[in-house]
Amino acid sequence: MSKRNIIITGGAGFIGSHVVRLFVNKYPDYHIINLDKLTYAGNLANLKDVENKPNYTFVKADICDFEMMLKIFKQYHVDGVIHLAAESHVDRSIRDPFTFARTNVLGTLSLLQAARLTWEYLPEGYEGKRFYHISTDEVYGALELTHPEGKSSEISAHEVYGDEFFKETTKYNPHSPYSASKAGSDHFVRAFHDTYGMPTIVTNCSNNYGPYQFPEKLIPLFINNIRHRKPLPVYGKGENVRDWLYVVDHARAIDVIFHNGKIADTYNIGGFNEWKNIDIIHVIIKTVDRLLGNPEGYSEGLITYVMDRMGHDLRYAIDSTKLKNELGWEPSLQFEEGIEKTVQWYLDNQEWMDNITSGAYESYYEDMYNL
Ligand code: NAD
Repeated sequence: MSKRNIIITGGAGFIGSHVVRLFVNKYPDYHIINLDKLTYAGNLANLKDVENKPNYTFVKADICDFEMMLKIFKQYHVDGVIHLAAESHVDRSIRDPFTFARTNVLGTLSLLQAARLTWEYLPEGYEGKRFYHISTDEVYGALELTHPEGKSSEISAHEVYGDEFFKETTKYNPHSPYSASKAGSDHFVRAFHDTYGMPTIVTNCSNNYGPYQFPEKLIPLFINNIRHRKPLPVYGKGENVRDWLYVVDHARAIDVIFHNGKIADTYNIGGFNEWKNIDIIHVIIKTVDRLLGNPEGYSEGLITYVMDRMGHDLRYAIDSTKLKNELGWEPSLQFEEGIEKTVQWYLDNQEWMDNITSGAYESYYEDMYNL
């Protein structure tokens, strides 16, 4: 059997921590190295339950530090990479695009180069070389809202808001500095396959939700604001449509694809689950109020419409049929169940939330929304 030393970058972040947890628990024979810089979004408290496992190592490092990456790849005989480290928040990318280009493009390049230069010399027994890059559906651009009221469709368990969907063959057309930087990194990964024969895989996933998400993102932000009776800032009219996937289902997909995905291929990952922002907000309000024992509609008055995000893409909708047909993956949770679990988790883990919403985040939030 081949040995495995797998680096998971960004393992202290939201999705990365779920991937680390899954791999450490499911594969006791693999050595899982969580490589993370611990930016504002990285939080080792996300991994308390795995930090003492014998097959887990945490390394604090910046993926942009190429010499350090080389050293780490050599030291641990790394033969697999699952790359999630990134700057991930669109709003922050609008304010500070340079940081996004640096981390997402140059950081990915530095990892690719470290893998390329060390993989030739891996000792015998390390055979599972694979560089798996996690990306977003936002690289595809935006889709039309041809059915603003929604309509049923064979592709989705829920209503859909347009006729088109992102497929693996959809041309890249990123609009925000975040999606442009992710697109750049995707291109570098594919170029390393085409040029050097690096065994790469890329996946593009829709919006994730679930436990341990940094509360600048819509769902944890709103749960936390309702708890503190703070305004709920809704961009524009709340008409933008996103596809939502429970984060544990994304981690399951990553597991399947890392092991069975075809080298040099791309897979879209999504929930078949389109929602308008404003509708999701009503679901969150309803769920939080019910779980907190508030009367129905109690928190609706907190909704506050704010100026739309610059260049706000109208609709993202992903078609993950290829992943279902070729590798048998499907989301395991219906959205209603996932949201219930998610809200309950944030209400049960208020200390986790309070620890990260104090300090620097508080001033970012005030500056961002002026609320
Ligand atoms: P996150 O912001 O919660 O976590 C990012 C992690 O990367 C943090 O732990 C941070 O410390 C680390 N990091 C940042 N810069 C680093 C650097 N220079 N060196 C090392 N570590 C660094 O992000 P997330 O939401 O968990 O997203 C993870 C990945 O999945 C990203 O690549 C993102 O583009 C992609 N993605 C996210 C979503 C989503 O809905 N959240 C959807 C599709 C794809």
